[in-house]
Amino acid sequence: MAGIILQYVSTLTLNLKHLGFPPLSDRIPSSLPSPESTVKASQVPNLFREPYILSGYRPVQQDWRCYLFSLFQRHNESLNVWTHVLAAPVLLLRWWANAGAVGYTLDTVSLPLLLFLLSSLTYLFLSVMAHLFHSHSEHAHYFFFFMDYTGVALYQYGCSLGHYFYTSEPSWRESHVGLSFLPASAFLAWLSCAACCFAKSRYRRPYPVQRKICQIIPNALAYLLGVSPVVHRLFTVSWTQEPSLLFHALQVASFLLSALFFSCPIPERFFAGHCDFVGQGHQIFHLFLSLCTVFQLEALFQDYARQRRTLVEVFGERQGGWACVALPALFVCCILTALQHSLMDIVYKQN
Ligand SMILES: [Zn+2]
Repeated sequence: MAGIILQYVSTLTLNLKHLGFPPLSDRIPSSLPSPESTVKASQVPNLFREPYILSGYRPVQQDWRCYLFSLFQRHNESLNVWTHVLAAPVLLLRWWANAGAVGYTLDTVSLPLLLFLLSSLTYLFLSVMAHLFHSHSEHAHYFFFFMDYTGVALYQYGCSLGHYFYTSEPSWRESHVGLSFLPASAFLAWLSCAACCFAKSRYRRPYPVQRKICQIIPNALAYLLGVSPVVHRLFTVSWTQEPSLLFHALQVASFLLSALFFSCPIPERFFAGHCDFVGQGHQIFHLFLSLCTVFQLEALFQDYARQRRTLVEVFGERQGGWACVALPALFVCCILTALQHSLMDIVYKQN
């Protein structure tokens, strides 16, 4: 969808040009810096080069505002930015519609649903920041991607909160996994963030396979635990009785597809230089992850509406409150971990 919009913006810009209107970049006041033209992979430091992406790189060390204005420039990160920029209003609109339909009111047991939305918006925002600004310098690259990992960790725990309070079955909550689910989810979310920061700062290009292992194993564990109440319900409850299960199945399928495109540089591996602007695996990963988040929101609202009257009775005010306090605490821990790796990176470069 973002690809179509980007294509539409390019066509619109060309049409306006033919009608005598100056292009968008020319309308930026001359007192403000405008982004330099994109360059080939060989013209940027090794750190910024992506496998099989040969052109469309933004030059390093431009003014920060150039990277902000590059939101409207065609470069090899454009779709990585726009896929997540556009996902945010879609989520907000669906939240607005669902909240109105079910008569959502804020209290201790409905708070996890709001925290799920906030954690989703946070990961989208930090991802946009990373893809927009990381090209400024090596320090910026590390700093913004470490922050991106904190957003992902927060989202992992936000999903766990939603799945625990609204999707899980009583029999699952009484199991060993159910009893330790929330603290274990928070720990694995932090571990994923810490492992990704470690792998990014420890390994340099060409990246060894250990780097991917370091990133994928803690994230896979966090996901498997976080999705366990959903999988349990998918296999124990009749789909015809529960309309939310279709959305849960779609969220799992979207996530698995996103994980595939995150792990492998496809399709660019087979078409080197032809996916520099549109069609990179990372863009497809963003699309499927955004879809996964939208399906999760729909499913969680249906689950919430189904059992809102019994939530306080089942969980109690205190359990809901403590589980939600853990979210900002996790965010602080992840930010501190990211900042520590950022500082270590600066010290490492100075020595
Ligand atoms: Zn990304």
